[in-house]
Formats: sequence, structure tokens, C-alpha cells
Amino acid sequence: MSNESSFNPYAVAQEQFDRIADLMGLDPTARKLLRSPAHEHHLAIPVRLDTGVIEVFDGFRIQHNDARGPAWGGVRFHPQETVDTVRALAMGATWKTAVADIPLGGSMGGVVCDPHNRSPAEQERVCRSWVRRVARTIGPMRDVPSPDIMVSSQHMTWMLDEYEAIAGEHAPGAVTGKTIGAGGSAGRAEATGYGLVYILREVLKEREIDPATTTASVQGFGLVGRHLIELYTQIGGTVCCVSALDSATGQPCSVWKNDGVDIEELQSISDRLGGIDSGRAADLGYEIGDGDAWLVREVDILITAALEHQITTENVGLIADRVSIVLEGANSPMSPEAEAQLLEREVWVIPDLVANAGGVVCSYFEQVQSSMNYYWTLSEVLSKLDLKLTSAYLEISQFSAVKKLSMRDAAMVLAVDRVARGCRERGWL
Ligand code: NAD
Repeated sequence: MSNESSFNPYAVAQEQFDRIADLMGLDPTARKLLRSPAHEHHLAIPVRLDTGVIEVFDGFRIQHNDARGPAWGGVRFHPQETVDTVRALAMGATWKTAVADIPLGGSMGGVVCDPHNRSPAEQERVCRSWVRRVARTIGPMRDVPSPDIMVSSQHMTWMLDEYEAIAGEHAPGAVTGKTIGAGGSAGRAEATGYGLVYILREVLKEREIDPATTTASVQGFGLVGRHLIELYTQIGGTVCCVSALDSATGQPCSVWKNDGVDIEELQSISDRLGGIDSGRAADLGYEIGDGDAWLVREVDILITAALEHQITTENVGLIADRVSIVLEGANSPMSPEAEAQLLEREVWVIPDLVANAGGVVCSYFEQVQSSMNYYWTLSEVLSKLDLKLTSAYLEISQFSAVKKLSMRDAAMVLAVDRVARGCRERGWL
């Protein structure tokens, strides 16, 4: 992970937007409306700890745009969360729902805390207190939180329960990523990881590459990382290296076997937050390296599924010449300067906007099912997901080829155009 202290994700998101606005010749009013969030909620969240003492946590809910439908976006727990990260991710959510062409806007939220250091009872109280602070601004037809980093389906169910207690009625569409028993969708856990592989399958098809001949290195072994490794392995690919936080030290580490990792073996030595015990991995015959070691492996594909801002000018030069595809499972995992260097090397960068849209598409499916109170089977959800993501990817791929734009720029142009059109139709522009 880079230590660039000057990194500001919101400034990067705005610079990217400005560049796309220039490319499209977007008018000044649309630029002003779309380059900042529509609403920001800065929260002080009181939580009674197990000791009886009350601690006040900082938190956020930021709604960037809801012209195309209720806002939708993640909620995450992270000790280093900043308002600018949340702003950037809220803006990214607007573009992502537009790229996938689903009738939702974009938002993001979070609490500055580390669930590793909190008991389950304290985590439940953090979830409930966060909802009490945002209850007036979220809801199935206003803004729908969904899980992101270090937030589980159990956390989302506690949030739903608190929201429904305040609303005085059932409102299962108020949050997504809930447990199945509380109205969650089959396939939500798999959606982002499997979605990455549906898209990777199309990328390889376009390049006439058999997945069974490919190798990959993956950063992240949480919800996204595990499922993508599972499906990628099923279609014949070999994952040689996985990077995650070391559950013993809390520091990033990488574990690898050149002939392929065994996902079940890794799962048996990982914790519920996706940390891997590197000592036990070494006992099982894995080679162990630092947090950047996943990046230097001699593989065909690099897949990010951990955090933002992981590939930067400081480490992009470490990437092996053999790498021909970088798939962005995490949100904003790469700096624009690092991406420019990879594009120069003719590496095919599949941007987060489309690559990890499986989560938002399945969230939308969950909301649809929740409002009907009628639920689809796992295979129905996955086949609808595959169809939606494949068509979104092919549309962007063709648009990028015709307009001679990078995949990210093509996706951004399509997204900004759709959102601006939504605003115009409502008379906001
Ligand atoms: P998670 O919390 O379940 O897992 C995160 C993983 O990253 C863990 O294995 C953790 O050990 C690892 N990690 C954290 N810091 C690291 C570091 N410095 N170096 C190496 N590994 C590190 O999170 P998740 O739900 O799997 O999400 C992963 C990424 O995908 C995030 O960027 C998230 O914003 C993005 N994303 C998630 C979803 C979703 O549906 N969960 C959807 C879209 C995008």
C-alpha cells in the first residue's frame, strides 16, 4: 500500500470528473451540479461501550445525486475513514448505478471505527446509533445503504431492524445486503466477486484467451476476494497469490504458491474479516511476503479486492511485464497516474465502475424483491446478474473501441451523460 500522504480521493474524483466534462463539452451548470454532493450529513454517534462508558464516534452519510432514482451506496466501518473518501465514493456510486443503467442514484456513508476492536454487542450499538442519526434521510425511496468494507449482513440486519423500529413498519427495501432471513437476496454475498469473473470472462473472450491458461494474483480475501477466487478457479483460472491483512499482526501480507493457492485451505486459516494467518500459511507450505508482494508476481491478471489507492506511481513499476489485465474489484484502487503508465504498457485496465458493479446490481435486485416480498432463487439471481453485467460491459467495451477512449473514460462518459440527462429531464439543468 502506498504512503502518499497528499492523496485526497475526493480531489482525484473531481479531477477525473473535470477531465470527462471537458471531453464531453459539458455545460458549466451541469458541471457545478455534478462535481459535488447534493447533501452531506456529518454525524456524532454516541455509543455505550461494554464498560458502560459512552464514546462518540464520527460518521457520515453523503448523497451525491438522486436524479435517476433513490440514492444507493455503501456504508463502511474503517478507523481511517475521512469525509473526502466518503464524498469520492458517493460520487463513484452515482456513476456506477448509471453505468449499470439501473434506476438508482449515488451515496456513501460510514463510521470511523475499527470493528476488530469492538465486541459484537458494541458493533450492534454502533449500527443502531448510526441509523438513529440518519433515519430521516435514508429509506427505500430516499437513500439505500448497502454493505462495504468491514460491514457484514448481520450489521445490515441490525440497521434494518433499527430503521423499521423508527418507521413503525416493515421496510425491507430500506437497506440491502441483509441476512436472507431478514429479506436479503440470494446471491448478494457472491454478487461482486462473481460479477468480476463474469466480466473477466468477457474480457478474455474478446481477446480469444482460454481462462484455463491464465494465472492471477489477488489483493483482498474478504467477501469480494473469496467469491471471485472461487468462481475464477471454477472457470479454470489459477490464483497464485493472495494478499490480505495478517490476522496475527494486522499488517498487510501476501501468501503464494506458484502452482496455485487452495481456497478452502486459505479459508481455514482466515478470520471472518478476511485476514489470513501468515504463520499458519507458512506451515502449509505457502511462501510469505509483504503487502506489495502480490503486485510483483509473474501472472497474467492482477485483481484488486481490498482498499482504494493501492496501485500508485510508487509501486506501479513493480508490476511484471507479463501482466496484461488489471481488474478493479476494489473502488478507486489505482491512481490516475499509475493507470496512465499501465495504459502506456497496453495493459487492459477494467475499471471499478463496471468491474465491481455486481454488488450494486444485486442490491437493486434485492430492493425489487423486498418491495414485492417475493424472492428469486440463487440461480435466477445469478443469471439475471450475469445478463445485466455482460451487457453493461459489452456496451462500454464497444463504446470505448468506437470512441477510442480508455474503458474508464468510456464508462464515465456514458455515466455522466445518463445522469446529466436525468437532471435535465427533472428541470434541474
Ligand atoms: P472485506 O472487508 O470483506 O475484505 C477486505 C479484504 O481486504 C480483507 O481480506 C482484508 O484483510 C484485506 N485488506 C485490507 N487492507 C489491506 C491491505 N492494506 N493490504 C492487503 N489486504 C488488505 O471487504 P469486501 O467487501 O471484500 O470489499 C473489498 C473491496 O471491494 C473494497 O474496496 C470495497 O469498497 C469494494 N467493493 C465491495 C463490494 C461488496 O459488495 N462487498 C462491492 C463493490 C466494491
